[in-house]
Amino acid sequence: MNRSDSTFTPESVTEALRREGLRITRNRRGILQALFESVRPMSLQEIQSAASVHEGSRPDYATVFRMIMLMEKLHLVHKVNLQRSCSYYEISDPRKHYDHLVCRSCGNVVLIDTPCPIGDAEKKIALQHGFRDLSHSLEFFGVCATCP
Ligand SMILES: [Zn+2]
Ligand SMILES: [Zn+2]
Repeated sequence: MNRSDSTFTPESVTEALRREGLRITRNRRGILQALFESVRPMSLQEIQSAASVHEGSRPDYATVFRMIMLMEKLHLVHKVNLQRSCSYYEISDPRKHYDHLVCRSCGNVVLIDTPCPIGDAEKKIALQHGFRDLSHSLEFFGVCATCP
């Protein structure tokens, strides 16, 4: 996948998956829709039930698992750890940036979409260690406004 692709839409992702030989069924379309609609990372189970909201889409767990693994390999989704026992995934638009705030109390996850708080530090780190093309995903843990 070309990371400098200027479009990142359900259509472009569908196209990328087709190029990998994946047949885009209703189930898989439902999974894509669920990923694009979600405002926070989801576990595989959550992706499965979110996909089932869409018409004609009722993917089984294995279908979700295989599709997400392929998408991760192609950098179309990325894994978010959230310090929990299972993995969470979210769509990975190369033009966007993904740092998260996680509430330790209720588990609420918020995507930080302001300019990256460590953007400059990243450049410095790259320079210092002779690395290029750095990326990161930060997870800040705290207590959210609605929790006591
Ligand atoms: Zn909370
Ligand atoms: Zn960042």
